[in-house]
Amino acid sequence: MLSDPEKRKQYDSGSGPFANAGPGGGFGGFGNFDFDSSSMGDILSNLFGGSASGRRTRTKPRPERGQDLETEVSISFEQAISGAQIPLSVSTQSPCATCHGTGAKPGTTPKVCPRCEGRGIEAQGQGMFSLSQPCSLCGGSGTVIEDPCPTCGGSGAVRTLKRYRVNIPPGVKEGSRIRLPGKGEAGPRGGPPGDLYVITHVAPSPIFKRKGDNVEVDVPLTIPEALKGAEVKVPTLSGTKTLRVRPGTAHGTVQRLRGEGPPKLGAGSKGSAPARGDIHYRFLLDVPEKLTAEQSTAVDALAQAMNGNDPRERLFSGAAAAPDGATKTEEGA
Ligand SMILES: [Zn+2]
Ligand SMILES: [Zn+2]
Repeated sequence: MLSDPEKRKQYDSGSGPFANAGPGGGFGGFGNFDFDSSSMGDILSNLFGGSASGRRTRTKPRPERGQDLETEVSISFEQAISGAQIPLSVSTQSPCATCHGTGAKPGTTPKVCPRCEGRGIEAQGQGMFSLSQPCSLCGGSGTVIEDPCPTCGGSGAVRTLKRYRVNIPPGVKEGSRIRLPGKGEAGPRGGPPGDLYVITHVAPSPIFKRKGDNVEVDVPLTIPEALKGAEVKVPTLSGTKTLRVRPGTAHGTVQRLRGEGPPKLGAGSKGSAPARGDIHYRFLLDVPEKLTAEQSTAVDALAQAMNGNDPRERLFSGAAAAPDGATKTEEGA
């Protein structure tokens, strides 16, 4: 809460939840203190940061926003592409039903702290250099509980399991964070609830590799297909398509199918179809480890026909003819 610049500003400027707190409540407020505004932050962090010291005084004097929660879900690759509804259970704190969140045994009420008289602060030192600190008896809450509630042990809260069905939007990736507003911890003293963040773990696909907004697919080609061109059937995210492989396709050549990839998260407004990434098909030469006798004969014939077309000769003859220096790489640039 105190790291929230908005609330902090409200406090500093004298508006917001702190300014009108306390009057008539009997527990006093912070409103009648003379704070030097430069030390406000420190005092506040002491007050609230240090108050959870295990005393039976967990009840806080002001409404606060509840904590954010984080949980993880594991989904399949297909679910990540097309979206899914995933059941989820989250352990959250909710107000104890026995004491209605006060932490006090039914029939009793939290007492005004005798040390700080409900102000939550005690002063140390004298005069100009007196230092205000959170009350060491009540931890800054201003109240103490003499008879703790038997159900929650005085904390005012119990753990409950909440079940949700989470809508996983199409296009999530490994590690995407989905925010469910208001599904975090309830806010103490009637404050607004925090948010729930769901982190997605996506099982890898044997075919599609996610690369940012796109997916990559390896497509093996036979040597004749690479040499003479072909039409090959390839998987898409929604079925199959036929790709035309050009004659003379090199190992590692990439062909794109634009707009056939995964939906882009957050792109496209409601109703309209979201923008999609691409599929990148990478052609890889499939080289057999063994040949049949017939294939071997055919390859011999091919080798004969290709005689005089030595790619290394073309490549390396240039190096031999290079001017001085180009080959002296050890001393080189
Ligand atoms: Zn209780
Ligand atoms: Zn106190």
